[in-house]
Parts: sequence; C-alpha cells; structure tokens
Amino acid sequence: MILVSACLLGINCKYNGDNNKNEKVEEYLKGKQFIVVCPEQLGGLSTPRNPSEIIRLDGKAVIEGKTSVISNKRLDVTKKFKQGAMETLKIAKLYGCKKAILKEGSPSCGSSCIYDGTFIGKKVPGEGVTTALLRQNGIEVVSEKDII
Ligand code: SF4
Repeated sequence: MILVSACLLGINCKYNGDNNKNEKVEEYLKGKQFIVVCPEQLGGLSTPRNPSEIIRLDGKAVIEGKTSVISNKRLDVTKKFKQGAMETLKIAKLYGCKKAILKEGSPSCGSSCIYDGTFIGKKVPGEGVTTALLRQNGIEVVSEKDII
C-alpha cells in the first residue's frame, strides 16, 4: 500500500484551495493499491488556509521541538503540523504503507527541499514535518519528482 499526497491526485487540499495534480504519479499508481492523505487537513487546518513555512530548520527539528512552523500571518501552527503528521502516520500504520509519494517543497510533505521560513520563495534542502515522522518510522518517502 502506498501513501500519496492527496493534492498530487487532483484533490483541492492545497493551501490556496487548488491542487498539484501530477499525471506521472497517476500513471505510476495505475494497478497499485494506494491511499491519499493531506497532513495539513488532518491536522485541523482549513482549506484554503494561509501558507506556512518552517523557521530556519526542517521537519525533523520541528518534531524535536527545536523550531516552529508559522503562517505568513505570523501565527504559530506547529501543533497542527505535528498533529497532521501523527494522524498521517496512524493511517500509514493502519494500512501497512511501506512507501509514500509526497509533494515536494511542502512544509508537511517535502522530501528533499522546503521553503526557508522567510516567505520570499527561497527553497533550501530539508524535509517536511510529516515526511520526517514517516521516515523515523521506517517508511520510505519520495516525491513526485522521483517518479519517472
Ligand atoms: Fe496537503 Fe501535503 Fe498536498 Fe500540502 S502538499 S496540500 S499538506 S497533501
């Protein structure tokens, strides 16, 4: 069973109410068993919502309590991001997921890069909060960019 970011399959769960539909991912999943999740919605955030970024560090540091996730309105949404990661892990365990395909660049789902917390559109190497928690629990996480 593969865990997949819902926005990659056309679900309008992105912060701006849109999606990140990706045909390569759809093609890859044909004939395979998968389950879709949106960690930010699972954490209780609304859609649409204000965009958020991790301050300086990355998702692993958020889980360890070393940094926070804030919205562009300077609201601390760390608890909701952690909650979303925990609920996603619960689903992954429930369905025996060993692999996840998550949206690159997201503060929840990013697997090799995220935004740097300055809200100027600058990406830095790092993983999102949900990705970090899934990896800590032995689940392989890749992004849509790894699907060829
Ligand atoms: Fe939800 Fe992840 Fe897609 Fe963001 S990237 S909309 S948290 S599934």
